[in-house]
Amino acid sequence: MINRINELKKMSFGPDIIGIAPASRFDANDPIFKILPETKSVICLAYRIPRGTQRGIEEGTTYYHYSTIAVECLEETIMPMMTLRCARILEEEGYIGLPQRKTQTIMQEEDSTNPEILYNHIRRGITQEYQMNYVESAAKCGIGEIGMSGSLLTDDYGPLQRYCFVLTDAELEPTPEFKPHICDNCGECIKACPGNAIKDKKKDPWQCAAYYAGANMSKNPFMSDHALPHREDRLEILSGKKQLTAEDAKDVINNISYYPPIMHSYISSICGHACDRACYVHLEEKGVLNKKFHNKFRTREEWVLEVK
Ligand code: SF4
Ligand code: SF4
Repeated sequence: MINRINELKKMSFGPDIIGIAPASRFDANDPIFKILPETKSVICLAYRIPRGTQRGIEEGTTYYHYSTIAVECLEETIMPMMTLRCARILEEEGYIGLPQRKTQTIMQEEDSTNPEILYNHIRRGITQEYQMNYVESAAKCGIGEIGMSGSLLTDDYGPLQRYCFVLTDAELEPTPEFKPHICDNCGECIKACPGNAIKDKKKDPWQCAAYYAGANMSKNPFMSDHALPHREDRLEILSGKKQLTAEDAKDVINNISYYPPIMHSYISSICGHACDRACYVHLEEKGVLNKKFHNKFRTREEWVLEVK
């Protein structure tokens, strides 16, 4: 059965990385045991983010492709399809396969948000909908480590992948635990965030949401010179220096809009995950990523626009 699961990688649109964790790597109170009490193994299916989808943002030219193709298409089409295939293999062998993909529009927290989704399309406080801790679960499945940015880093693609899971009652041969060795605490991810949203290995959700949507004028070619006229603190916000409350972030997001919403309530990323791009550039320059390209991802100095 493990061979059939690993063969998913060879299928059209199959995952780039597969990792398997035994249930013993998870605490007894982990959400996986509320979702499927008889869980014996957790299968992680990871997909690289084609770095070409981020080149437009890197150049300041095209932005929609990253969010439509590398976020929406992977999350809503490719990854659910592959968790279904994986679950079908498990069921054919007489085991349960319970697909787990991020449910992007609902959350247990009452006061948080998901920067990739329009904040007013999220249903909050849904306590019966248990969600796995995605990044921690992926690390437990042995595919990578959690970097200072809070993102998962793998040996092949650095921070550029997305992932989903299948829970099963089958005892599968586990992937060895990943010994952290990629993140060198260089801090490039923190420096690159246009909203100073990364602290203590976490992204502040509301701060990230506003700057993911493009609140920093110096990194947003669509921003009008007269943006946020109703805010006395507009220059502080537009230069990424203001610590935003949830209400501030909502007000900023309501008053900046550059692309129409994508399907499934996704918004177009204007920061283009600058944190992860900076990390990728750093790891590529160090030569530590297994997946090599003919040309470097970053080919010139980063552009910066005037804040006025
Ligand atoms: S660079 Fe973008 S995605 Fe990363 S923390 Fe900052 S705002 Fe969020
Ligand atoms: S940019 Fe540097 S500090 Fe940040 S996650 Fe990557 S390697 Fe770690």
